[in-house]
Amino acid sequence: MYDKWVEIDDDAILSNLDGVRSLLSEPTLLIAVVKANAYGHGMVPTALLLEKNGVDHFAVTFLWEAMELRRAGLKGDILLLSPLVEEEAVSQAIEMGITAMISAPRDAVLADRVSRSQQQQFKVHLKIETGLNRFGLSCEEALQVCQSLSQNPFIYIEGIYTHMAHAGDRDPSYTKQQFQSFNRTVDRLKAEGYHIPIRHCANSTATLRFPEMHLDAVRVGTLLSGQYPVGEMPRPFTLQDPFQFKARVISIQHRPAGSSVGYFRTYSLRTAARIAVLPAGFIDGVAVEVANPPSGGLDAIKRALKMFLAWRRFSRFTARVYIEGQPCNVVGKVYMQFTLVELPDHLEAKVGSEASLPAKKTLVPPAVVRVHRQQRDRTKAEGH
Ligand SMILES: *Cc1c(COP(=O)(O)O)cnc(C)c1O
Repeated sequence: MYDKWVEIDDDAILSNLDGVRSLLSEPTLLIAVVKANAYGHGMVPTALLLEKNGVDHFAVTFLWEAMELRRAGLKGDILLLSPLVEEEAVSQAIEMGITAMISAPRDAVLADRVSRSQQQQFKVHLKIETGLNRFGLSCEEALQVCQSLSQNPFIYIEGIYTHMAHAGDRDPSYTKQQFQSFNRTVDRLKAEGYHIPIRHCANSTATLRFPEMHLDAVRVGTLLSGQYPVGEMPRPFTLQDPFQFKARVISIQHRPAGSSVGYFRTYSLRTAARIAVLPAGFIDGVAVEVANPPSGGLDAIKRALKMFLAWRRFSRFTARVYIEGQPCNVVGKVYMQFTLVELPDHLEAKVGSEASLPAKKTLVPPAVVRVHRQQRDRTKAEGH
C-alpha cells in the first residue's frame, strides 16, 4: 500500500499516439521521443507500450537512457539527441545498436576511430545547426564529415536532422528560415553525392503547424505525453493527460478561526476549518515551478498578477487538490514532503481518502501504477 503514487493511463498515451498518427502521411516515420523519463510518464513502460503498438523508432537524450531501453528489451531504433563525449561511450553505443548523432567534427573522429577498431556497424544521424544554437554542424562541417565517414565501411549515415528554436512563434519566419537552411545543407550534400535517407526536423509544434516539414520523419514527445506545447499551432484533436499524482490524507485536524497554518505562518484561517495533511511536497514536484525568465514584458506582468491574485486567495489562482472529486485549496507553504489543504465544510473526507495533486512531472515518483482507464470505465459500465 502506498501513501503516494502516480497513475499513468496507458490508454491516454495510445489515444495521443492515434492523434499524432492521424497527422502523418503514409511514408513519414514517427520517432517517439521518450527522453526525461518519457516526460515523466515512465520511460521503459511507455516505450514498450508504444513499441507494442507499432512504433519502431525512438529518441532519447543520453546514452544511459538508451541503454536502459535496450536492457528492458526494446527492439526498435534508438536515436541519441546529444553527442557522445568519450570513446567508452561510443563503444557502448555500437555494442548495443544505438544510433548516435554527429554534432561536431570531433564526434565524427571518435565514431570513425571506435567503429574501425571494433569492426562493427555504427548508425549515425548528422545534426545540423540552423538556429537553435545548441549543437550541430555547419553546412561545411557536414560536408567534411560526410567525406571522412564515407571512407569508413562500418559507418552508415542513416539520417540528418535539425531542431527548431521556436516553431510556435506567432511569426513563422525564423522557423521557415531554419527549414530552408536545413534543406540547403541537405541539397548541398546530395549534390556532392551524399544521399541520406532519413531527413527530420519537426518537433510536436512543427508537426502540427507545418505539414511540409514532416519530411521523412517527425520527432514527437510532448503530444504523446498529452499536452499541446506553448505557442501558435492548430489543435486538431483532444489530447489526454495520462498523468495523475495521488496521495492519501494522513491526518485531519480541526482548527479554530484565526489559527495560522504552516511554516512562517503565511496563512491564517478566516473561519474554523479542517486542515488535511498530504504526504507529498516539493520533492514530488508539488507546487514546483520552472524558473525560466519571463518571455517578455507582458509575460512578466501576467506572472506578477497571478502571484498577487494567489496571495489575495482568488481560488482560480490558488493551487488545488482534489479529494473525492472536490476541489480543496492548498494552504500555507508547501513543505518538502507535506502539503496542507483546507477541507470545504461539505466535504466528507477522512484519513485515508484519496487526493489528486497538481504535481510537476519532473521527478521520479515513489510508485507508478499503469492503468487502462478505458478498461476501468468499461468494467464500471458493465457493473462488475
Ligand atoms: C525534446 C526534443 C524533441 C521533441 O520535442 P517535442 O516538442 O517535445 O515533441 C525533438 N527533437 C529534439 C532534438 C529534442 O530535444
